[in-house]
Amino acid sequence: MLMQSKRFSGQVAVITGAANGIGRACALRFAQEAANVACLDLAKAQNEVTAAECQDFGIDVLALDCDVTDRNSVESVIRTVLDRWGRIDTLVASAGIYTGDPLPDVSLKQWQRVIDINLTGVFLSNQAVAPTLMAQRSGSLVNISSMAGKTSWPGSAEYSASKSGVIGLTRSVAMELAPYGVTANAVCPGNTLTDMVRNVAGQVGSRDGLSAEAWLEMRANDCPMKRLAEPWEIAGVVAFLASEDSRYITGQAIEVDGGLVMS
Ligand code: NAD
Repeated sequence: MLMQSKRFSGQVAVITGAANGIGRACALRFAQEAANVACLDLAKAQNEVTAAECQDFGIDVLALDCDVTDRNSVESVIRTVLDRWGRIDTLVASAGIYTGDPLPDVSLKQWQRVIDINLTGVFLSNQAVAPTLMAQRSGSLVNISSMAGKTSWPGSAEYSASKSGVIGLTRSVAMELAPYGVTANAVCPGNTLTDMVRNVAGQVGSRDGLSAEAWLEMRANDCPMKRLAEPWEIAGVVAFLASEDSRYITGQAIEVDGGLVMS
């Protein structure tokens, strides 16, 4: 991981999907930069591992069971965070899943599950923390969208729709919270080496007659930089969007994809 600054000393970062992948990298980054961190996830055991790793940086940490699709669950963990620290400076909404099937095979249940987790989950977490940030007149919301929110590929209807939805949601939240000095931005990662992508490589690769390794290599070769991202590379941009250096950036959807999508 890069750099050792303490930009977030005394601040509180809440991370959904903190147990794994990009959410975990964000939790570690905020902890490394001295924020107190609340790790939210429904993968309890793994979430506790992330929280323990964060604690190694000497900060205060909470590992909280949370299903981002359940309003009661989200509101209850946000109350726990506020009881503990009395403030929230950053929300990173990273919880998400990937499914991808050809359009005729996408069941309504699959469509709704992806929209519930990837889009409604972001809505509920933004809604739950917004009043606190508005009252503080400071703070940052960083919602993890995807390159799939700006472009697409075959067999990605529900995922792309959910991720484009995150961009639209983020713009509206940004407009509403801007008068309070609160920013809201989306980050759009390209293929990033997490369990999600490794699982996709296995599933989609086998559908295309490729090994997972060959599929990942193909995806890397699609990218101008000829490699996939590491989770900490996404976390660095998230941390920037939560920092003092980005106070005049809001409503944006920033690609972190090695140049795959240029707009
Ligand atoms: P991951 O599978 O490694 O981690 C996702 C985490 O979200 C897991 O810990 C999981 O338990 C949690 N989660 C799932 N459903 C949840 C729910 N209902 N409530 C609470 N937590 C829940 O995936 P990742 O690659 O780290 O993805 C993180 C985010 O980044 C997702 O929104 C994903 O769509 C997005 N993204 C990932 C990539 C990539 O290539 N990995 C690319 C673009 C966007």
